Amino acid sequence: MNASRIVGLFLAFGVAWILISDRILEFLIQDPHARQTAQSVKGVAFVLASTLLIYVLVRQAERERSRLEAETLREKDRLARVLEVAPAVIYSLRADPTGQGFVTDFVSDQIEPMMGYRVDQWMAQPDFWRQHVHPDDLSQVERAQQTLFESGSVHHEYRFLHADGVYRWVNDHLILQRDADGRPAQIHGAWLDISERKRVELAMIEADRRYRNLFRLNPQPMWIYDEDSLRFLSVNEAAVNKYGYSRDEFLAMTVLDIRPPEDVARFQAMLADHEASGRSQLFGGVWRHRKKDGSLFWVEIAGHSLEFDGIKARLILLTDITDRYQAEERLRLISHVFDASQEGISITDAHNRYVSVNRAFTRITGYEPEEVIGKTPAIQRSGRHDKAFYEGMWQQLREEGHWEGEVWNRRKSGEIYPQWLIITVIKDAQGQVQQYMGIFMDSTGRKAAEERIQRLANYDILTGLPNRTLLFDRAKVAFATAGRTHAPVVVMHLNVDHFQHVNESLGHEVGDEVLVTLAQRLLTALRPEDTVSRLGGDDFIILLPHITARDVATVAMRLMSAVAEPVDVRGQELRLTASVGIAEFPENGADLVQLTQAAESAVSQAKREGRNTFRFFSRSVQDQVKETLVMERDLRLAVERHQLVLHYQPQIDVASGRLVGMEALVRWQHPEWGLVPPGRFIPVAEASGLIREIGRWVLGTALQQNAAWAAAGLDIVPVAVNLSMAQFKDPGLRDAVIEALQLSGLPANMVELELTESVAMEDSNFTIATIDGLKRLGVALSIDDFGTGYSSLSYLKRFDIDKLKIDQSFVRGLKFDPQDEVIAVTVINLAHSLGLRTIAEGVETQDQLDFLRAHGCDQYQGYLYSRPVPADEAVQWLSPRRALADVSQ
Ligand code: C2E
Ligand code: MG
Ligand code: MG
Repeated sequence: MNASRIVGLFLAFGVAWILISDRILEFLIQDPHARQTAQSVKGVAFVLASTLLIYVLVRQAERERSRLEAETLREKDRLARVLEVAPAVIYSLRADPTGQGFVTDFVSDQIEPMMGYRVDQWMAQPDFWRQHVHPDDLSQVERAQQTLFESGSVHHEYRFLHADGVYRWVNDHLILQRDADGRPAQIHGAWLDISERKRVELAMIEADRRYRNLFRLNPQPMWIYDEDSLRFLSVNEAAVNKYGYSRDEFLAMTVLDIRPPEDVARFQAMLADHEASGRSQLFGGVWRHRKKDGSLFWVEIAGHSLEFDGIKARLILLTDITDRYQAEERLRLISHVFDASQEGISITDAHNRYVSVNRAFTRITGYEPEEVIGKTPAIQRSGRHDKAFYEGMWQQLREEGHWEGEVWNRRKSGEIYPQWLIITVIKDAQGQVQQYMGIFMDSTGRKAAEERIQRLANYDILTGLPNRTLLFDRAKVAFATAGRTHAPVVVMHLNVDHFQHVNESLGHEVGDEVLVTLAQRLLTALRPEDTVSRLGGDDFIILLPHITARDVATVAMRLMSAVAEPVDVRGQELRLTASVGIAEFPENGADLVQLTQAAESAVSQAKREGRNTFRFFSRSVQDQVKETLVMERDLRLAVERHQLVLHYQPQIDVASGRLVGMEALVRWQHPEWGLVPPGRFIPVAEASGLIREIGRWVLGTALQQNAAWAAAGLDIVPVAVNLSMAQFKDPGLRDAVIEALQLSGLPANMVELELTESVAMEDSNFTIATIDGLKRLGVALSIDDFGTGYSSLSYLKRFDIDKLKIDQSFVRGLKFDPQDEVIAVTVINLAHSLGLRTIAEGVETQDQLDFLRAHGCDQYQGYLYSRPVPADEAVQWLSPRRALADVSQ
């Protein structure tokens, strides 16, 4: 109840009393005197009533006020407590009466714990707030104020100087209040210290920026791809550089596109696995990737799943491990060779302490690896060599990096034995000695003893001839070689006619003596490379590798006459005859079992037709004999009738893809038979001696062709010419080469001669002298079909040759036959260790080439690049010469 209400009520009561009470008195009391008295009483009554009324009203008003006061107090108290606990500073500003701006009206006590200032400090200075805003944030703060006046409220963040001298980030939320006229009257605001949040936020921005930089500028290729579509979403600089695709090209591709097609299935299987295993966060693996230029390399990937712009994606980090991978692969192969070698191999470190030995080492020395590792080879010393011997060895090792010779060493058992030892120093790129490699073989009589045991297992006890086991082994080798050289192999079955009469009439002992005699005769009737073996009884099997068809009948007759010579038994002269059956590989059978059956049926045929004769299983050999005779007759005229032609096959540098040579391959354009391949007529030429003339023609023609190309201004490459064994043995060879060089006018380094591996198998002074003689002319020498023979690498070292041609039979197995791969890699590595280059022939597929490249093969030739083609087509590979001086010197 307020004052005006109280007064209003009292006024109404008073006026009502005055107006109504007198009237009532006049009406009720006529007597004036009594009315007078009543008047007084009425007056007193009025005073009393009005007093009462006022008392009631005032009392009521008082109560109301104290209730309000209590409420206000409570309210104030509550507000104070709220302000106290609020993390914010609450403040209000009031419009300056001068209209100059705003002055602080109120700041909550919270300012002290938050900013370190007391309220009175703040209130004392009108410009306190502005003076403490970070200078860099002032302009932004002013813009916020502008917004406040325009829109009535604003939220902004800025830095404010704390009393401790360090700026804090604050969030300021302001609301503008206008007066009735719409003029800004008051501003209410709340301030919050957001330094912590801001710190985290800035740290995140920084982390993000760093992360992006890490991705963008990382020297390792990285990318992000979509888990579902497999598309690239982002790739870094290093990936662009490494793969050769531009960023845009990358983004248009999927991760499948950078793999060789044959790896895609495995990759997809990996993805499916990954999916099935609940998409683990982290994953890795080793893969082959393909660059834009098609080249392949090995990468190790590490990746993890992430969300990229809302897409489920994977971040991939790649490391090129091609070198490591190849090194591992090489190591694996080398360790295979290391373990399989029959020769003892040991590796010692720079201080000559054993670090590794192979199985043969243990077999020969008796020492297990763990017994020698860490020790020096001195543990094997026998005491047979003096100090000077070892000093000489070390001196040579220091000067030449190599030592070879016989050393007497002591086995673990104490036995002293001679070994042939080859030591090679292995140096690093800086020429520092890293290791020593020792290769040795036991050169004692033990070998001979082993051979005797071998004999017992492989030879017929009665006659001393090879038995069935050895025959089978030799046959296997003969057929394998024939498969490659296409030279025929013949199997003969010889049976002595009516031999059972000898046994019956003269007894088994005499029969055995006769067999021994016949065996000796058969042996002497044959070439060393032939095998005669006794199957039992009077049955002999004769294996004749690479025999020419025309010799077959001669050999059969020689064998028959060997049997027909009279045999002297205990004073009696015995006359015997034999029948021979002949079968030919591969026409009459694919293996020895089939061939001996065929030969046996031919021998039965001979017996049926009167004995003391020979029969072919089929007529094919006889046909061939005829064909060979015709061929020989025609071949005599081939050179003068210009029927021989040369085709050329390019030899390509594996690393650069550049042409580095051409092999000349002869063909015979026969008027009836068409183009005859060399495999068919070269053996005939060799057997008939025509090879000298043909060889001379090939050499002369190849050189003249090359000279003609040079004269036509082309940048020529060395031409490789094949020499067969018969040519190599021809004493006129060197003169023929000199003559061809002179006639063509070509420098000797434009010629390469390909020798067959059998040349290298003969470690004779003649071979060495012939090779040296050719080398002195300046021509290059290579060993053809390397790996098919049995040449020992230690022989090879003695010949001054330049290049090994890995035979095509191994190249064919690359990428699927691990044995061929091991051989190819071993040939490459060993050739390199001997300082020779390698060329692979018969390369037909990209896979084979990739393998060869990965294992360091220098050159290749094969259908993959081109078949041998006539000279007028071969010219396409030669480019115009850059400088005239190139060929004339
Ligand atoms: P070679 O010297 O080992 O020659 C390689 C043979 O492999 C050639 O057969 C060649 O045509 C063939 N060749 C090349 N690339 C591939 C390929 O990718 N796949 C397959 N499957 N074969 C390929 P060609 O011309 O029939 O010669 C056979 C052999 O005849 C030669 O073997 C060589 O030993 C001999 N020969 C060729 N010309 C002469 C010659 O003028 N004189 C002598 N003495 N022998 C020759
Ligand atoms: Mg060749
Ligand atoms: Mg070859």
